[in-house]
Amino acid sequence: MMLNYDAPLYRPPSEARSLIFQVTLGCSFNECSFCDMYRSKDYSERSWEEIKGEIDMMANYLPDTRRVFLADGDALNIDSEFMIKIVKYIREKFANIERISCYAMPMNILKKTDEELKKMREAGLDMFYLGIESGSDIVLKKVTKGAIAKTIIKSVNKAKNAGYIMSCMVILGLGGRTYSKEHIRGTAEVISACSPDYVGALTLYLENGIKQEFLDKFGEPFIRINDDESLEELYGLIDQIETNEENPIVFRANHGSNAYTIKGTFPQDKQAMLEKIQWMKQHPEIMRPQGLRGF
Ligand code: SF4
Repeated sequence: MMLNYDAPLYRPPSEARSLIFQVTLGCSFNECSFCDMYRSKDYSERSWEEIKGEIDMMANYLPDTRRVFLADGDALNIDSEFMIKIVKYIREKFANIERISCYAMPMNILKKTDEELKKMREAGLDMFYLGIESGSDIVLKKVTKGAIAKTIIKSVNKAKNAGYIMSCMVILGLGGRTYSKEHIRGTAEVISACSPDYVGALTLYLENGIKQEFLDKFGEPFIRINDDESLEELYGLIDQIETNEENPIVFRANHGSNAYTIKGTFPQDKQAMLEKIQWMKQHPEIMRPQGLRGF
């Protein structure tokens, strides 16, 4: 039994086996120049009747569900009371829920009060996936992210203080060759300043439909980085991330768009990850050929 989803439907790779309810459709921002996920949709919020109907139906078909992901692009944009109602109802109808998560933008989190965030957490919302993308204000502006480093740090820390598990994404190559150093330095600074529980590094991949818009908005010639430079960025990022034992970061660069796989936990695995990259630099034959990559 499948729900009748409003396509396209996206979820983080780690939610591949989760039950998905679409609480909102599209993305309330929808302007990041590297992202074409919801360009075909206008942002809207679904009604309680629709959402409740789907929860009731799936509680019958998949009563043992353990993980739920609330879609689409920024389900956290909905009113806090409405979110509490939805999360509570899911917990009521499915007895074995372990985790409920959704995508969130820095602005979604900053718009909520600490009290609202805590109440949603108590109701049973556990985790946010947030795209940091870059920690460099220049790069963030050039890709029209709608956030600056300061607000990203503030939002992640705010959510963590309210008890949420934070899983964040960064994009290697987002500043092109011109801003590579700046991009990596800023991104490492942001990660170090908020220590998300999980950080995933993807490699920039522009879908055909979005390529021209990305290049136009970048405002100057964009020079793509190559595989060697991407590995160099990854090395620089890992090298500059600082955290302590009390704030561990589970790090992964194993997305389908990447030419390599690196994973480990900061701070203890930092050195081993750096050594693995040094080794990989000397063994280019293990890099996945371009044609085999993709999202
Ligand atoms: S990256 Fe996130 S916030 Fe930006 S347009 Fe895509 S879904 Fe919306």
